Amino acid sequence: MPRPLIAHIDLQALQHNYAQVKSRLTSANAFAVIKANAYGHGIYEVAHALKNKAAGFALVEIEYACELRERGITEPILLLAGVFDTADLLLCQQYDLMITVHHHEQVNWLSQLTCGPKLTVFLKVNSGMNRLGIKPTDVPYFLERLAALPRIKETLLMTHFATADEKDKGITAQWPIFEGLMQAYPHLSVCAANSAAVFAYPETHGQWVRPGVVLYGSSPFEDMSAEILGLKPVMSLQSEIIAIQDLIPGQVVGYGAHFTADKKMRVGIVACGYADGYPRHAPSGTPVCVEEVNCGLVGRVSMDMLCVDISHIPRARVGSQVQLWGNRVSIDTVAQFAGTIGYELMCAINPRVKRTYSVKYTH
Ligand SMILES: *Cc1c(COP(=O)(O)O)cnc(C)c1O
Repeated sequence: MPRPLIAHIDLQALQHNYAQVKSRLTSANAFAVIKANAYGHGIYEVAHALKNKAAGFALVEIEYACELRERGITEPILLLAGVFDTADLLLCQQYDLMITVHHHEQVNWLSQLTCGPKLTVFLKVNSGMNRLGIKPTDVPYFLERLAALPRIKETLLMTHFATADEKDKGITAQWPIFEGLMQAYPHLSVCAANSAAVFAYPETHGQWVRPGVVLYGSSPFEDMSAEILGLKPVMSLQSEIIAIQDLIPGQVVGYGAHFTADKKMRVGIVACGYADGYPRHAPSGTPVCVEEVNCGLVGRVSMDMLCVDISHIPRARVGSQVQLWGNRVSIDTVAQFAGTIGYELMCAINPRVKRTYSVKYTH
């Protein structure tokens, strides 16, 4: 029997979350963002579950985009970081992929296309995050250059928010800049909102939104739970107790002997560690669920194992079910304990963890 550790993916919850996003939109279409193997959930299974439901898909990996087409995905697909050389553009034509354009060189590559299908371009404007995007003042020049190219079907305006998830900062610094461009080019469609902006700033919705993390049932907001947003957890990281230790006061647990029992304790050893993607920095007290009862981590997380206090769960034994995160322990809570965000935890699931699905996908 393999190690009893699985990441179970609830595809109905994923569909529910996409529908929740849609319910927040009036006329905008929503790309399902499925980069990074659908935030660790399995890109092909996720895309298949959202086929005929999502208005489109967005990701950064062109090889996966092509493979999605090979597997029958017909919805629009957007490459969020655009292409990395001229050859990629031929693949975009062949596989009907939409591209982001965020620097001069990408336009130079586009200018080399003289035949074949026309491409849709999302012109990415740096409205203040200073990651990808052209200067707002360069927009007229880029639009002019793109308009002069023979293989462009349509150009849209795009931007990305740095702090849409933060109550105090919000989109205040960036929105006026992008809104100014929208007013200057009212005939262009726009695409700006990530998950946080979809929920917090309806004025940013435009024609296309790009939610990612909410589809997987995690909240982008520190002060608002996924449940309050109407989202259901998609990934459930499940394991079992593989050993039990009975401790007397003064005995320690794990590497570094960082935890000392202050009373008689029963400690369950769980088959999940940092090599599986569980955060090593999760401190003692991080919630874990054993036999449907909440308990807490004790001692340091090791590579393949972690330890939990099961003193108050007398029925716990070797083979007891453990949930590291899912419907009983929110991934966002675990992330907060570990000083990170739900995004990082889902993406960090190691390939050695078997993923199972609520609906089987065969292709
Ligand atoms: C990842 C990403 C998104 C999705 O962000 P979430 O916070 O997960 O909704 C949207 N747009 C771009 C450009 C991205 O890279």
